[in-house]
Amino acid sequence: MSQLRLHKRLLLSLVTLDLWPPGIHPGRLFYFSRRSKLVSDMIMFLALSVILLPGISGRPNKVDCEQLHVANHLVAWGHKTTNVPRHVEAIIIHSSYNVLTPDSFSIDGILNEYRGINVSPHYIIDRKGTIYRLVIDNDVAYHAGRSSLPDGTTNVNAVSIGIELINTPATPPDSLQYASLVRLVKCLRERYPVKFILGHSDIAPGRKSDPWKFNWNEFRKMLNVD
Ligand SMILES: [Zn+2]
Repeated sequence: MSQLRLHKRLLLSLVTLDLWPPGIHPGRLFYFSRRSKLVSDMIMFLALSVILLPGISGRPNKVDCEQLHVANHLVAWGHKTTNVPRHVEAIIIHSSYNVLTPDSFSIDGILNEYRGINVSPHYIIDRKGTIYRLVIDNDVAYHAGRSSLPDGTTNVNAVSIGIELINTPATPPDSLQYASLVRLVKCLRERYPVKFILGHSDIAPGRKSDPWKFNWNEFRKMLNVD
């Protein structure tokens, strides 16, 4: 039995069984002298459901998007500003690492690379799980390149949000990165009518191979827990 059904059954028992000493069933608050106990029970059930269920039926897995911490690190390159609300229907996941200096995970090195070729994702998640915003959601970031969505859309940058994970072809994303990615994607899905969550390699097969060593099964499992 799911947690939700278990708690519903518990509530039902609490309300309808005669657990209450005669005369002090809390539903009496709603009694009028000739109302049946059934009506009172129904009111009690609804009242207790409203009060108790949100706290025990899965809320712990829900992300409080107001509290999602994103560090602003807006860049001057790799995007274009739009003045109308953008239609976002895809989230594209990438991997990046620094090839300019020995520290593969240096975010400064990675940003230097991006600047050199005028590209950028909207977000990048470092090895500690910190989420940086490089481009605001409503701007078109240059992260997808020549690519197409499963429905044939080819202007992918225009309709997508790009998220980069810092990892190399040999080193998978770590658990902190997965946790942050899942929180971020859940919040983006609440905000936009997202139809596709794909990797760069899915939309540019043969040309791109990232995200590298990405565990799609685990990611999807984490994403659907709510
Ligand atoms: Zn990519």
